[in-house]
Amino acid sequence: MISISKYFYCIKLTGRMSCSLLIILCTFLLFNTSSVCAQQYELLIKNGHVIDAKNHIDTKMDVAIRDGKVAEVAKEIDSAQSKKTIDARGLYVVPGLIDIHTHVFVGSKPDVFADGIYSVSPDDFTFRSGVTTVVDAGTSGWRNFPVFKEQVIDKSQTRILAFLNIVADGMNGKPYQENISDMNVDSAVSGIEKYKDIIVGVKIGHYEGNDWTPFERALKAGEETNRPLFVECHLPQFTLEAQLKKMRPGDIITHSYEEISERMPVIDDQKRLRPFVIAAQKKGVLFDVGHGGAGFWFSQAIPAFHQGLVPNSFGTDLHRFSMNAGMKSMLNVMSKFMAIGMSFKDVIIHATWNPALSIKREDLGNLSVGSVADISVLKLINGKFGFVDAAGYRLDGSQKLEAELTIRAGKIVWDLNGLSAKPWKP
Ligand SMILES: [Zn+2]
Repeated sequence: MISISKYFYCIKLTGRMSCSLLIILCTFLLFNTSSVCAQQYELLIKNGHVIDAKNHIDTKMDVAIRDGKVAEVAKEIDSAQSKKTIDARGLYVVPGLIDIHTHVFVGSKPDVFADGIYSVSPDDFTFRSGVTTVVDAGTSGWRNFPVFKEQVIDKSQTRILAFLNIVADGMNGKPYQENISDMNVDSAVSGIEKYKDIIVGVKIGHYEGNDWTPFERALKAGEETNRPLFVECHLPQFTLEAQLKKMRPGDIITHSYEEISERMPVIDDQKRLRPFVIAAQKKGVLFDVGHGGAGFWFSQAIPAFHQGLVPNSFGTDLHRFSMNAGMKSMLNVMSKFMAIGMSFKDVIIHATWNPALSIKREDLGNLSVGSVADISVLKLINGKFGFVDAAGYRLDGSQKLEAELTIRAGKIVWDLNGLSAKPWKP
């Protein structure tokens, strides 16, 4: 239509212009029109190896982006069709990573996670690790969620989703966060319904009392809103078996490989994976890594992994005290699992499509045409690396992942080596 209207414009000019001028003008317009059509994409990532579990892709493909969305995925897309082209030869192009266990309700309050300094600002840590979506693990509850939204969620480029804490003010420190009278199912349900695009589940946190009420109220809020329960609790009064029995298929337990006195570990004294743990996984309970500062022990993770307890997701438990210890970043946790024995492809799937499914957000974690262009371009480096656990042990590994480029909604938000920049010419 554009070219036809431009031709008509040319014809209208016929009476007023010389023939040669007209030919020049029409030639220019034709060229201009074809170049507009040719550059239909804003960004093209060429020659990368795409891994997209939802679409069963594990091969070299080109990925084109337009209007913040994935516009085309094909074996060969001509770079003339894009305003900008990035050569991802030798790199892996995967959906933006999803970290389902973080604490990002950062604020100025001392000594707490909710609106406090124990949480971290997401954009400061996500993109450099290929992460485009984080789920905050119940740092807020229904009462202070609006503050969290206004203060952090709405101000961040990282997509922030949340598990809502069953306690009204979330992780506001002891003894408050164990106050049963402030765990109201109806208020939590209304909060979830009000922010249903952001809140993906309900969280039960640490509780030292001799009472199932917090757990049961969180579960009820999850049932009423058809959302998973995220169990980040140490219930020292109850066995792990009893907790797992109460969980439904699709509910998520985190800190899967911890070995601390407040919770029974998944490996018994004979180094065997407890049968009820595998039974829970078979039932459909999802096991998140939840690395954190103290939540990941090789003494648990290595035997558990090799006896069949493969984590469903690599929640990092990102917060002020975990990022500089053994956890470091999502990519470090993923690399650690490669050192333990997980295949590279599985590691990618467990950081993209699997977590999207576990939070019931099938719009994320894939590169389907039309989906939001959240993309991580990763480099797999060979060398000598060390991975550390909460007990101070080091596991040596020979491969490590690094984020070369991170794209959030079609926009480049991290570019480690300037792949998208123009080469310097003095
Ligand atoms: Zn946590």
